[in-house]
Amino acid sequence: MEALVRLLGERKVLLGRAAREAYRYDAILFGHPPLAVVLPESTEDVVRLVRFAREAGIPLVPRGAGSGLSGGAVPLEGAIVVAFTRMTRLELDPKTRTAWAEAGVVTARITEAARPFGLFYPPDPASFRTSTLGGNLAENAGGPLCFKYGVTGDYVLALEFVDAEGEVHLLDRRAYDLAGLLIGSEGTLGLVTRARLRLLPLPKESQSLLAAFSEVEALARAVSEAVARGAVPARMEFMDEACARAVEDYLGLGLPKTPLLLLETDGEGAKEELELVASVLEAHGARLKRARDEKEAEALWRARRAVSPALGRIRPKRVNEDIAVPRSRLPQVVGEIRALGEAFGLPLVQFGHIGDGNLHPNILYDPARESEEKVWELAHAIARVALRHGGVLSGEHGIGLMKRAFMEEAVDPGTLEAFRKAKKALDPLGLLNPGKVLP
Ligand SMILES: Cc1cc2nc3c(=O)[nH]c(=O)nc-3n(C[C@H](O)[C@H](O)[C@H](O)COP(=O)(O)OP(=O)(O)OC[C@H]3O[C@@H](n4cnc5c(N)ncnc54)[C@H](O)[C@@H]3O)c2cc1C
Repeated sequence: MEALVRLLGERKVLLGRAAREAYRYDAILFGHPPLAVVLPESTEDVVRLVRFAREAGIPLVPRGAGSGLSGGAVPLEGAIVVAFTRMTRLELDPKTRTAWAEAGVVTARITEAARPFGLFYPPDPASFRTSTLGGNLAENAGGPLCFKYGVTGDYVLALEFVDAEGEVHLLDRRAYDLAGLLIGSEGTLGLVTRARLRLLPLPKESQSLLAAFSEVEALARAVSEAVARGAVPARMEFMDEACARAVEDYLGLGLPKTPLLLLETDGEGAKEELELVASVLEAHGARLKRARDEKEAEALWRARRAVSPALGRIRPKRVNEDIAVPRSRLPQVVGEIRALGEAFGLPLVQFGHIGDGNLHPNILYDPARESEEKVWELAHAIARVALRHGGVLSGEHGIGLMKRAFMEEAVDPGTLEAFRKAKKALDPLGLLNPGKVLP
């Protein structure tokens, strides 16, 4: 590693034990301490690092903020971690409603920079105050706004990446959509260094409401019907009873401790759209509370953002599952998952971006009280429920290490073979994030 220090300078290469320990995990899994942690400050640094790693035959594990929930940034034995957190240049061009952002830019910063120009950047993973653009691109991250506005990949106009040979490519999607291959590839096909992003005008109006149901199945049926009737709310988030209870016990906002739907419509006709949805929800037995002003709306959405800390008070650890199923199957799926939690005798809560059929069943546990083996058995049983109902293994958190073993079951052999061929072409020595995604 001394040669690497000479190549990039001490400032950019961390070799100490504490640093190597600090970069061996993401938000869910632990791996091996890397041989070194490299903090590139430019695309040229990345090129030099890749050429060095190729010569030495050392695998590279790209990393943003490490907020990933599938082990994607977790190093296997004998790897170098490339943390993009110092590549944070952000340039806005309000006239063309675009921005160039480097991989290490924290997601929330893009909208914060765009807002003074009346613009915003819609992809909004709940982790947006910590996650980076590079991690979002690698996972094709979504968030509450994705039902109406789409996911990270929908906002990419061009993307720059360094391939496994150290060549830099700038992929302009107007010419040909090769960038689509890199988006969602979890760091296995190239190291993304920057992207040109599309921004949207901020909607002028928005309306929020809270709907309380007596059972989750009725909530899921109501959402399916509202969407079938043509509603396209900006945000549609659901919490089951256990989740609502945890959030209310934490925040004390006066929320009903029953299954809840939080909903926002925006843009022209926001009020009419809210009323259309409200009538469907009421027909399915919901009790509604409309936010009368921005302050009340903010309190509702604070409840959604509080889910993670609220669950942390119940048990110190949790496995945050991430499945997506056809919306019409939601009523059965949430019921089956709840029954599984009961059968395993483990605390389980469900929430998620219900408009997209994207559920996050969370298994809460304390390693001193509950067996981790049983927790993972339940997580895998949940993934199988999604597959049985025609769903997919991951709505937005990716496959990483966590769901790699399921790929053969979940993805058709032709698609897997095509992915293998793409991987071989772009990374013939298998040095980019090995051991992830592909079984
Ligand atoms: C509380 C919480 C809430 C969350 N909510 C959401 C949510 O609503 N929606 C959602 O989609 N996700 C969510 N996540 C998951 C996570 O935040 C996202 O997957 C995010 O995109 C990861 O970004 P990161 O910068 O932390 O990436 P990391 O975790 O560091 O890495 C994630 C993957 O990206 C790869 N990678 C990172 N940078 C690059 C790069 N420059 N080039 C190539 N590959 C790279 C890594 O190798 C890894 O495979 C949540 C996580 C937490 C902890």
